[in-house]
Amino acid sequence: MLDTLYRQLIMDHAGHKRNHREMEEGSHLYYKNPTCGDVMTLYWKWDEEGRLEDISFVGEGCSISMASCSMMTEMTKGKSYEEIAALRDGVESLIRKGEETGDVDLGDALSLAGVHRLRARHNCALMPWQALDKAFLDN
Ligand code: ZN
Repeated sequence: MLDTLYRQLIMDHAGHKRNHREMEEGSHLYYKNPTCGDVMTLYWKWDEEGRLEDISFVGEGCSISMASCSMMTEMTKGKSYEEIAALRDGVESLIRKGEETGDVDLGDALSLAGVHRLRARHNCALMPWQALDKAFLDN
């Protein structure tokens, strides 16, 4: 039952990608998933208080990667660097270890929990977060 709901959420995000647009202002980064061929360009802009004023992406790839990109933009918009880092850790734990950390609300991204069992798809689900690492989280 939960699996069905989760699958519907993934298909909804993959079919109607949120924040799927280019952005002229701010910064951008091209990122390619080495294992599946999914690609994305990440766009982001900080506000004066150090919160993500806007974030968007343009991408192509498998449903899991596109759904995860879409969910990531919804989760991180308006958040601070620290909050985004905590969300990244939460999603990573969910995908890599199959565990919820409990201290962050992953929202729709909880629907990606089943990807834990699909080892070959881990990088698909983590692609947008790896792009964030490359963009600014790992600095
Ligand atoms: Zn993929």
